[in-house]
Amino acid sequence: MNDSLQQSPANIDFEFDKKHIWHPYTSMHNAAKVTGVVSAEGCELTLSDGQVVIDGTSSWWACIHGYNRPEIIEAMQYQLTTLSHVMFGGITHAPAVNLCKRLVDMTSPNLTKVFLADSGSIAVEVAMKMAMQYWQGKNQPLKQQLLTVKRGYHGDTFAAMSVCDPDNGMHTMFGNAVTEQLFAPAPQSAFNQALVDGDTDALEAILKTNHQHIAAIIIEPIMQAAGGMHFYSAEYLVALRGLCDKYQVLLILDEIATGFGRIGKLFAYEYANIEADILCLGKALTGGYISLAATICSDEVAKGISDSPAGVFMHGPTFMGNPLACAAADASLQILQTSNWQQQVTDIESQMKQELAEAIDYEHVKDVRVLGSVGVIEMDSAINTGALQKAFIELGVWIRPFGNVIYITPPYTITSAQLTKLTNAMKIIAADIT
Ligand code: PLP
Repeated sequence: MNDSLQQSPANIDFEFDKKHIWHPYTSMHNAAKVTGVVSAEGCELTLSDGQVVIDGTSSWWACIHGYNRPEIIEAMQYQLTTLSHVMFGGITHAPAVNLCKRLVDMTSPNLTKVFLADSGSIAVEVAMKMAMQYWQGKNQPLKQQLLTVKRGYHGDTFAAMSVCDPDNGMHTMFGNAVTEQLFAPAPQSAFNQALVDGDTDALEAILKTNHQHIAAIIIEPIMQAAGGMHFYSAEYLVALRGLCDKYQVLLILDEIATGFGRIGKLFAYEYANIEADILCLGKALTGGYISLAATICSDEVAKGISDSPAGVFMHGPTFMGNPLACAAADASLQILQTSNWQQQVTDIESQMKQELAEAIDYEHVKDVRVLGSVGVIEMDSAINTGALQKAFIELGVWIRPFGNVIYITPPYTITSAQLTKLTNAMKIIAADIT
């Protein structure tokens, strides 16, 4: 047995971690104490001190089926000992083909060409490159800019950063290196409401003046996630699709957070009954077992790329189409397709609506909103994530607020009692914030 297997998983060297290991968005000198985790089962995490907490995050939207699903583990174990990795250039394999068949079947009929990427940010970069190459193939080489909306978030790599809201504070340090894109105001029309008059006017004005330079619009459909968990009207998306057609720009939908049922439809674009030209998927794709993302485009986009001067799509990462990741994703999507996820998400939604409603009366709560399996308490000012994290653990839950929102995105398999524990913890913390 190798050394690391002999060591107890609870025996984490926190001092080493603190000194040498970066965590997301943290300082190496001022880091808040990280929590050690030893194992996970169902919707629970076992921490290194033995405490068991209910997971309200699905590990950042990914683990939709809960942890330790035998179907995914078996598929991965088989794949691990059969063909865990092989290059994808000039080679194919059943896990990739099986997965892509599912993706082509699940998504709208016009989306037929799948690019398997490594992570959500890369899927976005790939989508942007596809759009840029498409217009070169259409003999419109000036159409190379992206238009997007404020409050959007599409990832941390450079091109992805260039379409994130520049005022979100996450990327301001890199302004000089990030390509300049065009930004319209965030959608204002609320979910389930008609399009507010004038909501797309500023966006249309940008299109009118700049469409000769715009390759695509990129947007998170229905829900802007990291921009503050805002839900907006399906009519806005319908209008957006119309404007894309009118001004001849492609529509890229980033469903990395919303995809695979999270907000009540398999894909958020179904609320608006529209088709994207390019769709980005990630996070829940493998059920959270391993990193994988996908960018799916239409025949038309693929044809334009083939007609571009390069003749091929100019992207091809080392781990593209990794068989182990594809096997995990295929098993995860099989679970989703054969499960009653729709009922599970509907039940989570109605329970959260009922249990979170009273929080609107708390002194510092600005808004309470729920859509599908996303529950949000928005506070009136920024909150201290580090301090609250500890308080949540003391309440027996794993919830990680950010900005001014306390939110949960639990696995679809969460029980009603577990969900009540999560919503209670959210309310206790929200009521306590001064
Ligand atoms: N797009 C959206 C909508 C996201 O929410 C995220 C991550 O939170 C990303 C892209 C980036 O994905 P990743 O963190 O896998 O690179």
